[in-house]
Amino acid sequence: MDKVTSLCKRRGFIFQGSEIYGGLANTWDYGPYGVELKNNLKRAWWKACVYERNDILGMDASILMHPKVWEASGHVENFFDLKSDCKVCKKRFKTADLKDNSVCPECSGQLTESRPFNLMFKTHQGPVEDASNLIHLRPETAQGMFVNFLNILDSKHPKLPFGLAQIGKAFRNEITPGNFTFRTREFEQMEIEYFCSPLDADKTYESWIEERFNWYLSLGIKKENLRKRRHAKDELAHYAKACTDIEYNFPFGWSELEGIANRTDFDLKQHSKFSGKELQYFDDQKKERFYPYIIEPSGGVDRSVLAILVDAYHEEKVKEDTRVVLKLSKDLSPAKVAVLPLLRNRPEIVELAKNIAGDLKKSLIAVYDDTGAIGKLYRRQDEVGTLFCVTVDVQSLEDKQVTVRDRDTMQQVRISMDKLKEYLINQLS
Ligand code: ATP
Repeated sequence: MDKVTSLCKRRGFIFQGSEIYGGLANTWDYGPYGVELKNNLKRAWWKACVYERNDILGMDASILMHPKVWEASGHVENFFDLKSDCKVCKKRFKTADLKDNSVCPECSGQLTESRPFNLMFKTHQGPVEDASNLIHLRPETAQGMFVNFLNILDSKHPKLPFGLAQIGKAFRNEITPGNFTFRTREFEQMEIEYFCSPLDADKTYESWIEERFNWYLSLGIKKENLRKRRHAKDELAHYAKACTDIEYNFPFGWSELEGIANRTDFDLKQHSKFSGKELQYFDDQKKERFYPYIIEPSGGVDRSVLAILVDAYHEEKVKEDTRVVLKLSKDLSPAKVAVLPLLRNRPEIVELAKNIAGDLKKSLIAVYDDTGAIGKLYRRQDEVGTLFCVTVDVQSLEDKQVTVRDRDTMQQVRISMDKLKEYLINQLS
């Protein structure tokens, strides 16, 4: 993990939040490469879950929702962890993590009795801070899709089974955040709520587990680092009949990337009860009205980005040196092509390289870099996962050819400049 976190900072993937002020604990800011990687991941998810299917519609709901939503969902009543505070060092611990419920694991001071601690962030809507305008930051994106169920039925008239998909921020006042971006208090989720007949729910649940597991494989994550873990009955959330996690083998142990849950008809029934609006579905062939069951594949953007970075990190011996390379897939890699002049003190070469980069930029993601000697430039590009380096040298001025180096094989081929764009587009597609 130390190697990955240090690369993330060194190369501009992820920085500590508010770092110049000493940092705000467990907040992270995505830098130039991090934001590209994150956007590529979200795009890949949206493509697989919305564009490539006929049965899923996208949406984007508000973070702030009516307070009754969280009563109906059970979050006001059930969304808490038990915690104990140290009377001496004032640190707070999750009771479930403690070996001894009365002794502080850090300073051996006395702990308070364990007390429930609601994980939802609270704030006030409008200028007056009183109980009547207390609202919460959403702890999951899911509820935004349940409360729009009727709007979707009335505007798009989908037939069961169908799903809604959403990517967005969620907030949880976690007691024990940590492991870099793995557990934070502000994070992004990618969630699908898939509505189906109660009779098909078990089968649909099983097929989503396979579908989602295969999606992680399609990102290029190694199969041996992924596994499925079915929850025991006593682990299930209050709304779930069954749940399976897809876990990644992080350096700190196997941990959840995504949970696939059978939420039954709990959510639509609860929102019908609390809102007074009937959220049943009418099957016009069978002439039946019923509450659909919901299968929910719910993943974390930040956790997937972290797994992808850990999985892609490689160190290789090249002659006497160690090469660090991020072997990110073509789609995910934040950097596709870098154009480098072999000699940065030769203006004709620099100008030609800049022109080539400028031309490539119109069709693909390319950068120009002349801030170091060629060996250093290659090392830098390998560390951010750049798929191809195009080098312009003295000979290029004569023969109008450039050298293209492949990140993974390090093999170099000479390509004529007028064929370069076509060559790279083919390699990247
Ligand atoms: P955990 O058991 O790790 O706390 P969870 O089971 O509470 O996770 P869910 O409620 O199923 O998580 O949320 C769905 C997904 O949202 C998780 O699989 C994870 O990828 C992401 N997620 C949840 N909590 C956090 C967090 N604090 N930081 C980053 N991502 C999170």
